[in-house]
Amino acid sequence: MQPWAHPLYPLRYGIPMLERIRIVLVNTYHPGNIGSAARAMKVMGLTRLYLVTPVQFPHVDANTMAAGAEDILDNVVICQTLEEAIGDCEHVIATSARPRTRQALAMTPPECATFVQGTSRGEETAVVFGRERSGLTTEEYELCNKHVFIPANPDYSILNMASAVQIIAYELYQKSLSSFEPVKKETAFPTTKEMKFFLERMEERLESAGYFKGKPKEATLAKLRAYFQRNLPEKAELSLLQGILTQVESKEKVEPNDNDLT
Ligand code: SAH
Repeated sequence: MQPWAHPLYPLRYGIPMLERIRIVLVNTYHPGNIGSAARAMKVMGLTRLYLVTPVQFPHVDANTMAAGAEDILDNVVICQTLEEAIGDCEHVIATSARPRTRQALAMTPPECATFVQGTSRGEETAVVFGRERSGLTTEEYELCNKHVFIPANPDYSILNMASAVQIIAYELYQKSLSSFEPVKKETAFPTTKEMKFFLERMEERLESAGYFKGKPKEATLAKLRAYFQRNLPEKAELSLLQGILTQVESKEKVEPNDNDLT
C-alpha cells in the first residue's frame, strides 16, 4: 500500500501537499490574531508561518491565543517585506475581502485547495493574509498570482483575519486527505523572484525603446504585470522571453537609439 493511501497516514506522517504551503501574515496589528492563526493552522496540519513586519511579536497574547500551537510560533520566519517572504515561491495566493481585484476574479476556498493540490512536489505555495484594518496594498496584491475570496454575507463579508486563515486551512486539509502526491511535472514554474527580475528587465527595455513616451507608464506597467500574473509562464517559456530581451539588449549596445544618447 502506498503510504498516502494508509488510513492513518495523515496522522502519522507529514502530508506532502501541506508541507509545501506557507501562511504569510502581513503587518498584523494584534498579536492575539497571530496566535489564533497559528492554532487555526495547526488543527489543519499546516506548520509554516511567516510574519511580515508584525506590529508586536513575540507577545504574550500570541502565546495565549495559540493554546497548544506555540511550536508554530517558535518556528515563525520573520520578514521585512512581503517580497522577502514569497520570493522563492512559484505560487502566491492573496486572500482578499473583495471578490474581484484588479488582477483577476478570485477563487473560492475549495477552488483554491484544488489549485494547490494540482501543484507539484518541489513547488512552494504561499497564502497571504492582510492587515486587520486595511488588508493588502495594491503593490502587495500585484506580487501575488492568484486570489481567493471567502464568499460571505454581502452586507458584512469581512472576516477576522485568523478566521479567514481557519477557513482556507480547513479546505486545504480536506483536499489533502484525498490528495496523492503528483509526480514532479516536466513543466516547472518560475519563482516570484524570477518573474520580478523579468518584469523589471522588460520595463528597462521598453523604457530605453521609448515605449512609454506619451503613455501613462505606471498604469501600463500594472496592466502588463497583471497579464503575466494571470498567465504565469512556465520556466522554459520565461527563459525564451529572457532570451528575446537579451537579444534586444545586445542589439541596443551595437546600435544605441536616440534615448541612449540623451
Ligand atoms: N478592509 C480590509 C479587510 C481586512 S480583513 C479589506 O477590505 O481588504 C483582514 C484580512 O482577512 C484580509 O486582508 C484577508 O486576508 C482576510 N479576509 C477577511 N475577510 C475575507 C474574505 N471574505 N475573503 C478572503 N479573505 C478575507
